[in-house]
Amino acid sequence: MRGALGGPRVLLRRLREVMAEQVSAQDRLDKIVVLIAANMVAEVCSVYVLRVDGTLELYATEGLNREAVHQTVLRTDEGLVGLVASEANAINLSEAHTHPAFAYRPETGEEIYHSFLGVPVLRAGNTLGVLVVQNRARRTYSEEEVEALQTTAMVVAEMVASGELSSIAKPGAEPAVRRPLNLKGTALNDGLALGHVILHEPRVVIKNVIADDLTKERQRLEEALAILRADLDTMLERGDVADGGEHHDVLEAYRMFAHDRGWVHRLEEALSTGLTAEAAVERVQSDTRARMLRQTDPYLRERLHDMEDLTHRLLRQLLGHDYDNARDNLPDNAVLVARMMGPAALLDYDRKKLRGLVLEEGGPTSHVAIVARALGIATVGEIANATGVVDPGDAIIVDGSTGNVHIRPTPDMEASYIESVRLRARRQLQYMALRDKPCVTKDGQSFTLMLNAGLLIDLPHMTETGAAGIGLFRTELQFMVAAQFPRTSEQLALYRAVLDVAAGKPVTFRTLDIGGDKILPYMRNVEEENPALGWRAIRLGLDRPGLLRSQVRAMLRAAAGRELRIMFPMIAAVGEFDEAKLLVERELTHLRRHGHRLPERVEVGTMFEVPSLLYQLDELLERVDFLSVGSNDLMQFFYAVDRGNARVAERFDTLSAPVLRALRDIAQKGIEHKKSVTLCGELASKPIGALALTALGYRSLSLSPSAVGPVKALLLDLDVAKAKVLIDGLIEKTVPGVSIREKLTAFAEAEGLAL
Ligand code: PEP
Ligand code: MG
Repeated sequence: MRGALGGPRVLLRRLREVMAEQVSAQDRLDKIVVLIAANMVAEVCSVYVLRVDGTLELYATEGLNREAVHQTVLRTDEGLVGLVASEANAINLSEAHTHPAFAYRPETGEEIYHSFLGVPVLRAGNTLGVLVVQNRARRTYSEEEVEALQTTAMVVAEMVASGELSSIAKPGAEPAVRRPLNLKGTALNDGLALGHVILHEPRVVIKNVIADDLTKERQRLEEALAILRADLDTMLERGDVADGGEHHDVLEAYRMFAHDRGWVHRLEEALSTGLTAEAAVERVQSDTRARMLRQTDPYLRERLHDMEDLTHRLLRQLLGHDYDNARDNLPDNAVLVARMMGPAALLDYDRKKLRGLVLEEGGPTSHVAIVARALGIATVGEIANATGVVDPGDAIIVDGSTGNVHIRPTPDMEASYIESVRLRARRQLQYMALRDKPCVTKDGQSFTLMLNAGLLIDLPHMTETGAAGIGLFRTELQFMVAAQFPRTSEQLALYRAVLDVAAGKPVTFRTLDIGGDKILPYMRNVEEENPALGWRAIRLGLDRPGLLRSQVRAMLRAAAGRELRIMFPMIAAVGEFDEAKLLVERELTHLRRHGHRLPERVEVGTMFEVPSLLYQLDELLERVDFLSVGSNDLMQFFYAVDRGNARVAERFDTLSAPVLRALRDIAQKGIEHKKSVTLCGELASKPIGALALTALGYRSLSLSPSAVGPVKALLLDLDVAKAKVLIDGLIEKTVPGVSIREKLTAFAEAEGLAL
C-alpha cells in the first residue's frame, strides 16, 4: 500500500489495543482517527455517525478543525459524506471539489483538501455512519487503501453498535443504531403483540474481528469452505430433494455460489487485510447486502437471500458451538423476526411463548401466514430488511391489524399500545360471555356460525368460540405444511381427529384445493400463465383421480358410523359435480365390498366460487346436498380482479350491487330448493359483511375463529327485517356515487351495532 505505515494488518493490531483500553468513548474515537490517518498517510481522518434524526454528526477528526466535532451536522442528501451514507457505497476522488455533490462546511476548514475517500460504516447492511480520509494532494486512493478503510470501518461499526457512543451524544440526537423505527408492511394476521425480538436465524455474533495469525485464519476459511461445499454435494447427491424440484434448484444455486471465484476472491481479500475468517465473511456479506438491497429486481433480491443463507452456513461452520439457537431459549412474549420461513418451521416454536411474527417477505397467502393465522399470532409481512434492523432482545410491537411494526418503541408508543391491548382483552371477555348464548337475532331469526379450519391446531377454537361446527375444513393445509405428500393413513388420522373433536357437530371437509397460489413444495409445479384460472382444485382432482380417490377414501373411513360432509372446490359446471360425486359413490361401494364400516350418512356439496354457476343454479341445487359460497374466489372471478394482487384486489367493493344481487340470488334459490347455503369466504368474517349477508337471506356463515365473537355480538343486536328493507332498496335502485358500504355503516351506527 502506497506510503502506508505498516499496512492494514498493523493498523488492525493497533486498533485492537485501542478497543481494549479503559478510556472514554470520545478518547477512543480520537485515538482511532489519529491511528487511521497515520497509517494511511492521510492528513485528515474523520468519523461521522448517523443519528436518530437521520443526520450525520462529526464525532471525531484528525486534521479538520477540532471545534467542529459534535457541531458539524450534515443531512444525508448533503455533500459527499451524505452521498456515501445514502448510497452505502465508497466514494474515491482525487479532486473532490469538482464532484456535483461536493459541499463544504467552513467551520471544518476542509476546503484545502482535494482528494477524498469515504466509506460507509456498515453493520448487517445498515449504514451507521461514514469514515473519511482526505489529503491535500490530488491523489487517487488505491484499491488496497479502499479495502483497508472498509475493514477499519468494521471496527468503528462494532464500536457504534456497542452503544458506547450514547454517553457522548446530545439528548434526542443519539446514534441511529438504536433508534426507534416505525415500519409499515402488510397485515397478515390480526392481533397485537408487545414483546422482544427473536431472530429465526440468529445473526452470528462475531466477537473476534482482528486476526492474531493470518495463516491460521486462511486455513480456517479454506477448511470451512471445503466442508460447506462437501455438505452441499452430499445434500444434492443424497437426493433428499426431488430432482428438478424447487429445493434442488436452490441447492444447485448454493453450490454454484460456493464455488464462485469472485466470492472466494473477495473473502480472501478481506482476510488479507487482517480480519479473522468470520469477520471477513461478514465484511463481504455486509457489502453485498448493502449493494443488493438497493436492487428492486426480484430475481437479484432472491439471489441475495441465497447468498445470505450460504454466508450463514459458512459462519456456522467457522464458529461451531458458538452458534446459539434461539428456538430453545425462547423468552415469554417472543416476537419472531425472519426473512422468510416455512410453515413447519413456525410450528417448531413453543406456541405458548410466541406472540408475533415479522417477515421480510410473505404475502397473505403464503403458507407460513396461514399457519400463523391458525396459531393466532399477530403477523406482519413485507418489512424490508427486518432482520437487519433489529437486534435479538429488542423491544418490538407488531400490529397485525394495520401492518405496523414498531422497533424499540418510544415510551409513548408503548403506552398507547398497552392501552389497546387492554381494550382488546376487555372486548374478548365480552365475546366470551356470548359463547353459550343461542344465536338468535333481535327479531327472532336463528343463524348458524361455524368455523373455517384446516389444521389440528385450529381445533381448540371449536370450544373457545362455541361454534356450531366446521363450515369449511381446508384439507390442502395439511398438504401445504408437510415436507412430503401426506400418506392416506396420515390423512385418515387427521380427519378422524377432527371428527372426534367436533363430537357430533357437523364438519364440512373440502377436497384438495391446490394449484393456483396453493403450491405444494414437493410436487412438480406446472408453470401457468394464469394460475388462478388454471389447472387447479377439482380440475386437477378429476384429471388425476388417484389423488382425489385416496382422499375421499380417507374421509369415508374416518367418518365410520358418523355423518360426513364432502365439498368440492372450484366447480364450474354441473357435469363436474356429477363426476366428482360419482367418484364418492364408487369409493363407498368399494369400502362396502371390503367390509369397512361406512359413515352413517354422506352429504355431498360444492363450493360456489365460479360465476358460471349463477346460470346453472336450478340444475346445481337439484343435485347437491348443500352449497357454500366462497366469496374470496367468487369476487376474484366476478370482477376479474386477482385476489393476490394488491394493485387490483381492492378495486371493487364486495358490498356493491352486482355482487350483492348475485349473492341474494344464490341464497333465494337455496331457500326455494330447501338446500342449505353457507358463506365461508372472508366477507362473512367482517361484521359489516355478515350484516349484509344476513339481510340477503343467509342464515349460515363460516368464519375465521377470531371473527366469531364480533360477528355474533353484531347479529344478536340486529333487527334482520329492518336490514332487509334497507338492503333490498339499495340493491334494487342503485344510485351512482352512493356507496352501499357507507349506507350500511350508517345503519349500523343508528342501530347501535358495533362494526
Ligand atoms: C373462497 O374462495 O372464498 C374460499 C373460502 O376458499 P379459499 O379462500 O380457500 O380459496
Ligand atoms: Mg376459494
